[in-house]
Amino acid sequence: MENSEIFKNIIKRKISSEILYQDKNITAFKDINPKAPVHILVVSNKFIRSSNEITKENKGILGDMLYVAIKLAKKFNIDKKGYRLIMNCNEHGGQEIFHLHLHLLGGKKLGKI
Ligand code: 5GP
Repeated sequence: MENSEIFKNIIKRKISSEILYQDKNITAFKDINPKAPVHILVVSNKFIRSSNEITKENKGILGDMLYVAIKLAKKFNIDKKGYRLIMNCNEHGGQEIFHLHLHLLGGKKLGKI
């Protein structure tokens, strides 16, 4: 069984989470298991399972997600030293939650990928 309900419930504020940003398309909140001093998840409010489900019709969400992530990088003062944006897809990409999201990671020098 997939676990996309978790993010759906965070977006609807049925599960508590540290929400840092929300508008009609996007919700951003702190990752529960941070891999860096700043680890924020930027999530599509509309359910999209993974990047494989991006279409001509819904591709605008990717720009919205990137824009919010970059704004948050500036807000958390990690823009000058730098940060990493990651979108995992399916098993080999290490996707755990099947609801489209972007990881914003920073606040330390990250290992080379
Ligand atoms: P993925 O591996 O799917 O790209 O990333 C899913 C992320 O969601 C993981 O980094 C994990 O720590 C985070 N996560 C899983 N469950 C919860 C939760 O209930 N609350 C929050 N804030 N983050 C979660």
